Amino acid sequence: MYSDFLDTAIEFLKGVGPKRAGLLKNELGIFKFQDLLNYYPFRYIDRSKFTNVSNIQSDSAYIQLKGKIHGLKTIGKPGSQRLVGFLRDATGDIELVWFKGLKWVVDKIKPNEGYIVFGKPNYFNGKYNIVHPEIEPASEAEKGVNATLQPFYSSTEKLKARGLDSRGIAKLTKTLVDKINHNIDETLSAEIVGQLKFIHREKAIINIHHPENQDILDKAIARLKFEELFFIQLALLRHKYNRVQKIKGHSFTTVGKQFNDFFHNHLPFVLTDAQKRVIREIRANMGSGKQMNRLLQGDVGSGKTLVALMCMLIAIDNGFQACLMAPTEILAQQHFKTIHRFLNEMPLSISLLTGSKKSSERKPIHEGLENGGLNILIGTHALIEEKVKFKNLGLVVIDEQHRFGVEQRARLWEKNKIPPHVLVMTATPIPRTLAMTVYGDLDISVIDELPPGRKPVQTYHFYDSKRMQLFNFMKQKIAEGRQVYIVYPLIHESETLDLKDLMDGYDSICRSFPLPDYAISIVHGQMKPEAKEYEMQRFVKGETQIMVATTVIEVGVDVPNASVMVIENSERFGLSQLHQLRGRVGRGADQSFCILMTSFKLTKEARTRIETMVRTTNGFEIAEVDMKLRGPGDMHGTRQSGVLDLQLADIIRDEKILKFARNLATEILEDDPLLQKPKNTILSERLTQLQKQKYDWSRIS
Ligand code: ADP
Ligand code: MG
Repeated sequence: MYSDFLDTAIEFLKGVGPKRAGLLKNELGIFKFQDLLNYYPFRYIDRSKFTNVSNIQSDSAYIQLKGKIHGLKTIGKPGSQRLVGFLRDATGDIELVWFKGLKWVVDKIKPNEGYIVFGKPNYFNGKYNIVHPEIEPASEAEKGVNATLQPFYSSTEKLKARGLDSRGIAKLTKTLVDKINHNIDETLSAEIVGQLKFIHREKAIINIHHPENQDILDKAIARLKFEELFFIQLALLRHKYNRVQKIKGHSFTTVGKQFNDFFHNHLPFVLTDAQKRVIREIRANMGSGKQMNRLLQGDVGSGKTLVALMCMLIAIDNGFQACLMAPTEILAQQHFKTIHRFLNEMPLSISLLTGSKKSSERKPIHEGLENGGLNILIGTHALIEEKVKFKNLGLVVIDEQHRFGVEQRARLWEKNKIPPHVLVMTATPIPRTLAMTVYGDLDISVIDELPPGRKPVQTYHFYDSKRMQLFNFMKQKIAEGRQVYIVYPLIHESETLDLKDLMDGYDSICRSFPLPDYAISIVHGQMKPEAKEYEMQRFVKGETQIMVATTVIEVGVDVPNASVMVIENSERFGLSQLHQLRGRVGRGADQSFCILMTSFKLTKEARTRIETMVRTTNGFEIAEVDMKLRGPGDMHGTRQSGVLDLQLADIIRDEKILKFARNLATEILEDDPLLQKPKNTILSERLTQLQKQKYDWSRIS
């Protein structure tokens, strides 16, 4: 169906040849015509619009100027030299600055010729300048591509040295699009094209490179963005529909004795509406006869453990076993204790299995699992070892999924013929758009409500210079009977150095909070499990007032009496980690506090992170900011690595298109799950082709 034209090797394009072809391959991964057509411009300049130097008013937008360049001179010592010069038009002069490629610029620029200069002005020392402007002789620009919108392509030093700067690449794409001549097929069904009034794919490709005008460029971008997002969604959702169709699941039809007994007689509080809704969603899913694969999102403290527990009771009511996997030993122990406490008065058998269990302790657990006497098993990844065999595992709950890889999950599934239902819990809120893409094939439940009576944690930013005040504040809170966490980041690559930072901090705290008035616990990754456990227990029991720790306490740990979280070098933590850490406090009745310590020097990003933490406790809001900070970036700029290798679309800016694409993909698959209807053949062929061509779907699904 696809013509040879697109598969033609790039060296056969006029103007390329073997040398340039080699560079295009190595530098940009362009092997064929197809690849060059997929190498979109990252920006367009309206050649018809020029700004006067005297009219430059802000440093926010890129502008185009026209004039002569004069006064070029090199300033500074060798090694840190810069080149400065001025562009003069009828209205004034603006300074141009280069730090790199000085010689190249000097050689290229001639004093009495007209130039077009493009760049973003900076306001510096009371006047504007442009650093590293793009420069082009006015004569060139005029005789060049005869469109008003000129495409700009990113290039590399090596390509530029061979004449393939943005302009050189534009010449190639122009040659190529002029030859296309009906060689690009439609990829969307007539129905979609009609419904969305899209221009033909060929027209879109031609115009994304060399647009006739702004209107048609907008249409090209709209179509290609949609297409990009749509096929990702279609692939993810088809994967999900296939799985649901092919893989049977245990049908949990009854909600029986254990669930009801717990609900009516042992539940110590009223469920929040969100917990109720989520339990209903999970119940319906587990009763459907299809295997459940569900992500349960809920902020720290929103009560996910309880939801998981009640779902495990449903499994037990239907004659199955359930297990809960946690990422760390401490967390597994904590879950075990919590669940043990909740189910204390019920006739159920629960065990804990972690790496540190001796084999003599494991034996009865293995037996209980195999003969069905054990109802609930809680543990770390020791759960997925070969030797662990369940009689009939019905539900697997995975806490903090990001630490469990997909393969680890798959190992669990192999244990039974009919796979257990899987509930993945995460306290890292994921922005909806990201969830749709990265977890596109999971169902999602969200607990978006905290249990009543919680006071939001108050967060403050302290510079290190305020340490005395911090210590006084800690002393005051400890005098009120509260406990305090102090967390240190992993700073160095080397564990020994990290440990040294932590120990230095610990020493200084020991000096400021001396015995016998104060007792201090310390926990870090290099301690033996028993030692860690011992220190944790002292803190949990209230024998120590201060817990000095690395991020091992990040997840799960629950000490309601601890009401102060101090985070040292907090500028070194990412937003989601800060949010997780802060979630360790605010669990009791008292007002809790989070103090973010930083040095004076902060990067802009670090400052935004700290300000965000101070401003809000809403995990979803924090996740949105986080994604914007680290986000998918500009069209050809840094993109989020891995799963979101998007060429044109941006899941933040194009959220509406993404949602629309997902809905449409859902509608189509509901009507035709395997894309077998004639009108959808075109879609399934395109999916196959994309799969082969470019996307590594295995990373996504
Ligand atoms: P998460 O795992 O979502 O961070 P947890 O399940 O650890 O949260 O719950 C946090 C705390 O809130 C626990 O002490 C739990 O017992 C309590 N809790 C859970 N649900 C409720 C509720 N509906 N009302 C009051 N307290 C609750
Ligand atoms: Mg939890």
